Amino acid sequence: MNYEGSCFCGAVGIAVSGEPVAEGYCHCASCRSWSAAPLNAFTLWKPDAVRFTRGERNVGVFRKTDRSHRKFCRTCGGHLLTDHPLWGLVDVYAATIPAHRHRPALHVNYAESVLRIRDGLPKMKDLPKEMGGSGETVPE
Ligand SMILES: [Zn+2]
Ligand SMILES: [Zn+2]
Repeated sequence: MNYEGSCFCGAVGIAVSGEPVAEGYCHCASCRSWSAAPLNAFTLWKPDAVRFTRGERNVGVFRKTDRSHRKFCRTCGGHLLTDHPLWGLVDVYAATIPAHRHRPALHVNYAESVLRIRDGLPKMKDLPKEMGGSGETVPE
C-alpha cells in the first residue's frame, strides 16, 4: 500500500509505502511542545518507506537533539515527520497521512501525560526496553 499526505498548505507532498513498524501515541513534553497538542499520534516507518513526492527543497529541519530531526514546511510551518536516526526509524505523524488508518497499539511516555486516555491500550511509563526505555507500564 501507498499512503499520501502533505503539509498544511500542500507545498510539500509525502508518501509512505508498506506498513509501519509501530503505531501509538506519545505523551512526552517534546512532542507536546512541538505539536502544540496534548499528545502526538505517531506512526514509525523504516526510512526507505518514506519519501517526499513534491516540494522537498521547501522542507526545513530542526535538530534540538541528535535523537530527533523534526521536519516541517518552510512556507506554512506545517509539520511533516521526525527522523529518529539512532533508532533507524521515521515518525510520520498520523495526521499528516490521513489515508493511512491509524491503528495505535500503545501509549509511550505516559508518565509525562497531561491528558489521560482510557482506551485500554498499554501505557508505557517511558519507552519500551528495545528503544532504550524502562519497559515499565503505568496505570491509565
Ligand atoms: Zn506547507
Ligand atoms: Zn514524544
